[in-house]
Amino acid sequence: MLRCEYCARILKINRSDTYLLCSQKCKSKFKNKNQIKKVDEYVLGSINNEWYFVKDIVLPKKSNKFEIVSSISRMIYFENRLIKKNNDEVNLQTRVTLKKK
Ligand SMILES: [Zn+2]
Repeated sequence: MLRCEYCARILKINRSDTYLLCSQKCKSKFKNKNQIKKVDEYVLGSINNEWYFVKDIVLPKKSNKFEIVSSISRMIYFENRLIKKNNDEVNLQTRVTLKKK
């Protein structure tokens, strides 16, 4: 099952020739590595070893909701840095925590 390399949602149509990207929005955001790094740092700084609702991680930075949910999803599906409590696709009600090393 292929996933978009930016938002990590299941890929239905690929909009990129080089990468796996589901939309023009993901295509443009995928290019901005500095912003990706900043959002990833925000997400990791918001989580410790307890369970967190995705919506509570988003809450202080609502305008970056899409970026934050995408970052969380990448850390679950691609990077193995976070785990989630159920098998549903990531959404605002999903609970996540750091993966123990
Ligand atoms: Zn995408």
